[in-house]
Amino acid sequence: MVVERTFLAIKPDGVQRGLVGEIIGRFERKGFKLVALKQLIPSKELAEQHYGVHKERPFFGSLVGFITSGPVVAMVLEGDGVIASARRLIGSTKPLEAEPGTIRGDLAINIGRNVIHGSDAPETAMLEIALWFKSDELNDWTPSDQSWRVE
Ligand code: UDP
Ligand code: MG
Repeated sequence: MVVERTFLAIKPDGVQRGLVGEIIGRFERKGFKLVALKQLIPSKELAEQHYGVHKERPFFGSLVGFITSGPVVAMVLEGDGVIASARRLIGSTKPLEAEPGTIRGDLAINIGRNVIHGSDAPETAMLEIALWFKSDELNDWTPSDQSWRVE
């Protein structure tokens, strides 16, 4: 069985606003397994690769400038269905349209300050995990209460 993993990054606004614990806590409480976690200030090259799909969009330059402006907290979560579930927990790209109860719905107001990134599909999750983490930064482990999370 292939375990599903997703890449998440708390953007500089989330770090600056002291929302790291609040955001990671939501995924922990949901029950997904954290398998990698680090804080870094992304290089321009890393940011441009990460957001490469948007390179022709008018907001690309400001997005790269923003994401490289300070520390980001990058992580990998594991669990069946985690990619789509994390996107639902994060909420819509436009925070004013994001449902209350979601991270962006509860914690953000502006599309350019929407506090967190999450991979949108299995292919992008694989690419983003490989872009942000070395394989030896990903930990194989089993929470001691795993049988209380998953049947
Ligand atoms: N973004 C922006 N202006 C826009 C569209 C997107 O600043 O008009 C930023 C925003 O931070 C968003 C990121 O670019 O999170 C990537 O856009 P995407 O559509 O992939 O949204 P996401 O996958 O983050 O929900
Ligand atoms: Mg996206």
